[in-house]
Amino acid sequence: MNIPFIPALYTSSREDTDIDLLVMHYTAGPTVNDCIDIFRNPARSVSCHYIVGMDGEIVQMVHDQDCAWHCGVSTWEGLEKCNSRALGIEIVNWGRLERKGTEYYVWPDEYGQSYAGLPPVYSDNGWWAPYPERQIDGVIALSRRLIETHRIPLKNVVGHSEIAPGRKIDPGPLFPWCDVRNRLGIGHV
Ligand SMILES: [Zn+2]
Repeated sequence: MNIPFIPALYTSSREDTDIDLLVMHYTAGPTVNDCIDIFRNPARSVSCHYIVGMDGEIVQMVHDQDCAWHCGVSTWEGLEKCNSRALGIEIVNWGRLERKGTEYYVWPDEYGQSYAGLPPVYSDNGWWAPYPERQIDGVIALSRRLIETHRIPLKNVVGHSEIAPGRKIDPGPLFPWCDVRNRLGIGHV
């Protein structure tokens, strides 16, 4: 797996904390490049280790041994500030969509921009952009590598919404957790 590296602006030291958590996010944006721009924007103090595009392509922006700024206020199994122990994967996906008439819209400009992509799916009282299969294949290949390299327990492969409930909803109801967990479990036992 040959992954290009484009450095994010904001990172910090893990201060000897071991990596034992893998956090899935969606970007709420259109492309890998759009997400790269955000992580290279001095006005946005956020970053993440990896981005996975719609075709499963992968870019790395923070080295695994460094802390990326993707969890925010967060708790997992009673421990706060998850960034110091976590690796993060940003998955390119618009997240929640709004339906007006027969058309669907994405969040910028107060849901004023047309959505283009796989047919939206209704779940949890809303419409959502699905994850293409090739993208999930990319997420699984990358996750498998990270889990094996850092010996991350499978129970610690989580969504942002699980470590920041009430504050974050990504990766949303269409992220195929069953499939992902099943496929990650195979070969890891
Ligand atoms: Zn997130």
